[in-house]
Amino acid sequence: MQDTQSVRVVEGGGRGFRVADVRGNAVENAFRLSNQGITANDLVRTAIQSLPGDNIAIAYSIAGMVDSMGRIVRTPNIPFLSGVPLGDMTREASKKPVVVGNDMETAATGMARLFPNLKYFSGITWSSGIGIRVVKNGLIVSDSEASHISLDPSLYAPLCGCGLRGCFDAVIGGNGTMRRVIAETQTRGINLPEGMHPCTVLDRAYVAHEPWAVAIYQLITEGMGSFLATLQTILQVPAIVWKGSFAQKALRLPGIEELIRTAMRKHLANPEWETGLHFLFVPQPPDAIEDSEAFLGAAELALRMCR
Ligand SMILES: [Zn+2]
Repeated sequence: MQDTQSVRVVEGGGRGFRVADVRGNAVENAFRLSNQGITANDLVRTAIQSLPGDNIAIAYSIAGMVDSMGRIVRTPNIPFLSGVPLGDMTREASKKPVVVGNDMETAATGMARLFPNLKYFSGITWSSGIGIRVVKNGLIVSDSEASHISLDPSLYAPLCGCGLRGCFDAVIGGNGTMRRVIAETQTRGINLPEGMHPCTVLDRAYVAHEPWAVAIYQLITEGMGSFLATLQTILQVPAIVWKGSFAQKALRLPGIEELIRTAMRKHLANPEWETGLHFLFVPQPPDAIEDSEAFLGAAELALRMCR
């Protein structure tokens, strides 16, 4: 991108919206917009207000399913946008090129910009759920739904948001882990402190070597190791770029990465597929605003459309 061109980016998920102007690799003038009590028209108005003189396009990064025309097919996190032709509405109001990307698509595209030397990698969000994209030479080659592969085929496996039981997402995603922490602490008679996220309680108890937390992390790391072994057997990527609260916190606790890698090796025909796999992380505040890769990726998708 030339430094004299900017793209307005609107990022939306369960915690509301953020609006910013992306110029080169800089994410500027970011501000938040609540998703309470607003309409799709309000959102479009905000998306196109006070555009800088060098603005050439508008891009959205939305947590949900999006079609090629920029219509939001389904978004459980932002219900008022489900079925809304956000792309057409914004094009009509702004008379500018508009692109609407799914949040995993924008994140993976942004990761490719942040790590330009990585020609082939998997971008994985490990947060409340698990999302994955495979990127080659800057382009997404698979809209993978690998997190809905079954990890636990038993009748008693946890129900997944997709309707199946026992998917990796349901067992080792952040929401699944939170439910496990709540259920297990309750059964063991351990009180969860009020106002603290159950996963934060888990992390602190793990660091303090409390057996219940160590046991839960043994299950999670076994599950993640098995997930990565499945992926690596199919994809043979040299690196994973991680994002998401679980990736940024749990994966960085002492011993967790090694537990995952040990579990992974057990499931691989060739252990070198583990040793050759590098873990990288998207930049976090204060180095960048949260989810900056989604802003960069959304801008990149818009620029590609303009070229
Ligand atoms: Zn599922």
